[in-house]
Amino acid sequence: MREPVSTVSGIGKSFLRHLHAMDIHSLEDLLYHFPRRYLDRRKLSRIGDVRIGEETTIVGTVRSAELNRISRNRSVLLVAVFDGSAYIYGVWFNQPYHADKLQPGIEVAFSGKVQYRYGRLQMVNPAYDILDDSTEAGMRSVHTGRIIPLHPATQKLSAAMLRRLIMRALDQYGDLPDHIPYGLRLKHGYPHRAQAIREMHFPGSAGRLNRARQRMAYDELLVMQVALAMRRHRLRTGTPGIAHAPPGKRLASFKASLPFPLTSAQKKAFEEISEDMSSPCPMNRLLQGEVGSGKTVVALLALLLAQESGYQGAIMAPTEVLAEQHFANITSLLTDACGVRVELLTGNTAAARRREIMEAAREGAVDILVGTHALISEGVDFGRLGLVVVDEQHRFGLRQRTLLREKGSHPDTLIMTATPIPRTLSLTLYGDLEVSVLDELPAGRAGTRTVVVGPGGREEAYELIRVELASSRQAFVVCPLVDASPAVEAKAAEKEAKELAGLFPGSRIGILHGQMAKADKDEAMAAFRRGDIQLLVSTTVIEVGIDVPNATVMMVENADRFGLSQLHQLRGRVGRGEHPSHCVFVFDADTEESQRRMRAIAEISDGFKLAEADLEIRGEGSLFGNRQSGMPDLRVARLIRDFRLLQQARTDAFALVEMDPGLDSPEHLLLRLEVEERFRDNLEWLFRA
Ligand code: ADP
Ligand code: MG
Repeated sequence: MREPVSTVSGIGKSFLRHLHAMDIHSLEDLLYHFPRRYLDRRKLSRIGDVRIGEETTIVGTVRSAELNRISRNRSVLLVAVFDGSAYIYGVWFNQPYHADKLQPGIEVAFSGKVQYRYGRLQMVNPAYDILDDSTEAGMRSVHTGRIIPLHPATQKLSAAMLRRLIMRALDQYGDLPDHIPYGLRLKHGYPHRAQAIREMHFPGSAGRLNRARQRMAYDELLVMQVALAMRRHRLRTGTPGIAHAPPGKRLASFKASLPFPLTSAQKKAFEEISEDMSSPCPMNRLLQGEVGSGKTVVALLALLLAQESGYQGAIMAPTEVLAEQHFANITSLLTDACGVRVELLTGNTAAARRREIMEAAREGAVDILVGTHALISEGVDFGRLGLVVVDEQHRFGLRQRTLLREKGSHPDTLIMTATPIPRTLSLTLYGDLEVSVLDELPAGRAGTRTVVVGPGGREEAYELIRVELASSRQAFVVCPLVDASPAVEAKAAEKEAKELAGLFPGSRIGILHGQMAKADKDEAMAAFRRGDIQLLVSTTVIEVGIDVPNATVMMVENADRFGLSQLHQLRGRVGRGEHPSHCVFVFDADTEESQRRMRAIAEISDGFKLAEADLEIRGEGSLFGNRQSGMPDLRVARLIRDFRLLQQARTDAFALVEMDPGLDSPEHLLLRLEVEERFRDNLEWLFRA
């Protein structure tokens, strides 16, 4: 399967180049280049039977394509299609380029609304697919079945060309082995892989296509879950970790010194954590909780537990701002009486200071080291690292987590995430971890009302801001997100600030964007925290970070440019104090997707439910993609749609690995090879603790 795609017979040089441009390099890439959709001939109309006014799909041969130019910019293209029963015309105004593709002799499918004009049947601007672009009759035949596959194509490689190529590849290499153990295939009644792949490309019937798709989806999910199961198994049974002492007196007195009682969710999470930590089996736990649910305090308790047992702890945050906030938060909660040394190490730490901290960490004199990824840089070492906390908000990959962990000898690991992850995702992204959830916000928060408005609703938002500022509260205004450079974004923020200064005369307005010098950013942030700035205009740099309980309005311009989870994060920046807060999202776009998103953010305040909705609206294309998750992309399976298959695969995978942890038995050999193959870019993740 890893042979280069050029081994398929009859591929010329330029053809090969176009395949490479589509990211098809190996035979496997080609065989897994599945149709993006299918046309079922039985659901097609004969042109002679179409009904006027109905949405219809027809298939036929192009008989003529006539382009009439009316003036330089205006033209009418008339394409006549015949299917043996009647003619229908596709009509395009001012889009002459379609004529290049719709050449006489090729076979096409038209979809659109049927009209009757000038004594002929026609469709205006029909959506079309080119089914066969070879005009020689002898080249036909590949899609004579009832279901016509439409493969993802490009300008250079038509779906028809790909279809012919895949047919040849299947003839040449169709007898692929199957890595799913026979017992599992039998249990679920799935077809053999070779057959399933063939049916995906050239389905014999809708039922067979469905079975094939299920099998391929299950296959992917099984391979992924087997990897997770193997990893979890190794983490639990590999080299023993550190058995920390159970919580003692110092921890109790620290808890008593906290300015607030812990929520019951925090208590429960910490119990789970301390149980893991006091067992010799290394902890791998995910702490999930909404923005503001109080994860930092829980992490601090765990860090103190490690310290009490004579170990050091490290906490790594994805940005400087967040690292600094953790540091400020932690040092303010710890009194001198705790006798705990906390240090901050980021890319900004001055060289001399840095050396000093590194020295102290190595000697074990630092109890808690807070930092950014500066923590995993070379030269940072710990004398006795016992706990690693990663506040990742999706930003670190498994690799960075692993690197930090390797600064010690099998320390316990706690991963915190503020992005609520739906179960579908946590079973995959974090399927090798135990999970604790903070599903409750600390008491005394007055809550946030969400208002979603169109551009016309801006006045309402400004009025709200006026009222809140008059009662000594503070407000955020987040500027439109521009795709262009940070410099352009910075300009936009400055322009916005000027406009707002006109609208709110006499108010102290500050600005914050990514182009500002570090010191200026810090100063803006500090001034806002002090209340010297009443209204902070910013780009999205505030997404993670600022905790200012006196801020009660969050206004987000151009909200349709943000993801739902980002909007939810922004919303979490207010409603942190005792005053009721308001969140105003200004939507400009009027697409259906934008409408759905607006409704979701307005109606759903629970982050987990919102994440599910987000996944559904966005689709799942880029779930793992650019995230260094260590997880290979899914090609067939879709997590929400295939949730049942995911659970099935998970159960099967964990049972299988329980029985045969190394997949050493002969009937599991192919499966192990497939896991290694699919994870080949992440083997270190797979095989290192
Ligand atoms: P998260 O990291 O989950 O977003 P933080 O840990 O930053 O939340 O906590 C947000 C704020 O709530 C902090 O100011 C913290 O001191 C405070 N806090 C945490 N736990 C409680 C609690 N049980 N009761 C009241 N306030 C709390
Ligand atoms: Mg936090």
